[in-house]
Amino acid sequence: MAITKTNFIEFTRCRRYPALESIRQDKLDSKLTIEEYKKEEENEEIKELLSGMFEMNEDGTDTDLTYKEDIQLNAMMKYYKEVEIEAARVAKKIFKGKFVYSEKTYNQESFDFVHNGIRYLCYTDIYNENDDEINIIEVKATTSRKYIDDMLYGKSGGEKYPLFKRDYDNIYKLNKPNTTDEKVIDSYNKKYNKLFDRYSSEGKYVLDIATQRYIIEHDLKEHNINKKVNYYLAVLNHNYVYDGYRVGNTRVYREINGEEIVNFFDMNEITEKYQPIINDMVKRLEDNIFNPDPSPCGVGKYCSYKKTNECKYKEICYKNVPKYNASFNYIGFSDSTGFTSDKLNKYDLINNGYLKLDDIPIEWIKDKPNMMIERDCYDNDKVYVDKEKIKAYLSTLKYPIYHLDFETLPCPMPRFRGEKPYTQSCFEFSLHIEREPGKCDNDKDNYVFLAETLDDERENLVKELVSRIDGENGTMLAQNVNFERSRIKELAEVFPEYRERLLKIRENSTDLLYVIRTNTELYKDLGFDEDRCKLVNFYHKNQSGSYSIKKTLPVLSDLTYANLEVKNGTEALVTYSQYDTMNEFDLNKAKKALKVYCKQDTWAMVVILEALRKICK
Ligand code: SF4
Repeated sequence: MAITKTNFIEFTRCRRYPALESIRQDKLDSKLTIEEYKKEEENEEIKELLSGMFEMNEDGTDTDLTYKEDIQLNAMMKYYKEVEIEAARVAKKIFKGKFVYSEKTYNQESFDFVHNGIRYLCYTDIYNENDDEINIIEVKATTSRKYIDDMLYGKSGGEKYPLFKRDYDNIYKLNKPNTTDEKVIDSYNKKYNKLFDRYSSEGKYVLDIATQRYIIEHDLKEHNINKKVNYYLAVLNHNYVYDGYRVGNTRVYREINGEEIVNFFDMNEITEKYQPIINDMVKRLEDNIFNPDPSPCGVGKYCSYKKTNECKYKEICYKNVPKYNASFNYIGFSDSTGFTSDKLNKYDLINNGYLKLDDIPIEWIKDKPNMMIERDCYDNDKVYVDKEKIKAYLSTLKYPIYHLDFETLPCPMPRFRGEKPYTQSCFEFSLHIEREPGKCDNDKDNYVFLAETLDDERENLVKELVSRIDGENGTMLAQNVNFERSRIKELAEVFPEYRERLLKIRENSTDLLYVIRTNTELYKDLGFDEDRCKLVNFYHKNQSGSYSIKKTLPVLSDLTYANLEVKNGTEALVTYSQYDTMNEFDLNKAKKALKVYCKQDTWAMVVILEALRKICK
């Protein structure tokens, strides 16, 4: 049996995973259809598990339910490859000697060793070797913000220090506290320990390179190679601002003011400390492989439930958890605050049989007014509306209302002048203009700007925006307005000639969520007492604790996204990013679908606002 580094990380999620994987693999290896295989299988428990992994189609073939295509990942792959190429370019400026790297995994340097009959295997993104040492560089398409700006330590109210600090060239090293102050040292240790939390956004990459070190060290030992090996994580520099420089059609990410597009983080000390932990993981993994036990083991953060790296066996282990109005779908519930003094998080709730909203004892939520509203709506099939608050806020809105929505591509590699890695690069907006309350036509009062190509069309987008929105009069309205405000601010920085007009639009903007959910400060200004300001303005049980437009729209209208070709923001950015792969017919079709989708987003806001007006009459 061979276990790659990626498999290792998946297989060590929990005790149950290797057993489920082995059942699935047996079925795949058998080449039988799911129904045929189930007939042969005598174990009822395994038959039941198989039903959660495969589905029989009408034509007799199977669908593997554990396979989920990540369309955004696929669309971004070409940019991820660019990150690797740039990392290698910068690495060559820092390290001397021989380099091995390739876009194709099988051309990369690999290491392996066998333990208890299992072959552990890894590939290195960049391998560098000189007379003195070997440098292993693992490239990740994330940004250095994670390890610098988001990892500050220090006393509360005192000076803050980043966990990693630039040492030389583009290499960052641990920035250990240079003090005996225990509070500072404690704060440092807390941040440092986060690197060992494999389920945190910072820790997941550390586990990756620590696992790599484990395999490499065993391989080198087997071959009696004693050279010093250094381990680095290469990530995108979050402070790098692309100047738009190109040679022909190719973007060139040159060094600007001492900043390269890739930074390197020295992971020597951390991966060394990780080795005993990996060793324990290997022991548990082998035990779970040799003594597979597919019975439930309880869920936990290792499932990464509802996260991008969610376990593929979620449908099996979470089959009793309702899709809507689950026990953890309360407004304001978060895993960090949890319920009761034990801070029960969603995994604790599920493991203890609290699955549905009404499984939660009233005692736990009685001093949380919004949760009580939600519970009352659920228990008694009621709709909650604070007409007075909604009316008061609606009466302050200045017309015309400019319902605005941007579609963006958060590209790992900056594409245009002034962008940084993962800048939300605007390629489309929809605008519905409501001149008087309720006066807005879906077609006549709508304008959609859509980039025609993958080239930089931001200036045209800005021109259309400022020519259609009068920032001096009226209100720009968006759902989650901070997103639109941030994009406008970024565009104002790149296009100073439109800065004043853009910033006026930003200044006179508000959020649909303030009407439907609430905004404490805003309602205080309108004269409501603080407790009431904190209460939601509207709630329907079908919202399942959420105020996303996809949840509020169906309860306030019969509009739906279900029949649209592009149904959400991810599909929109994927469609746009694939312009250059389409023929003319498909491209025209894709552009039409993008326009229909974005238009629906702003029309949905018009419809929600009107529905609230009617409810409050
Ligand atoms: S869903 Fe959770 S409990 Fe189930 S196999 Fe995956 S990690 Fe383990």
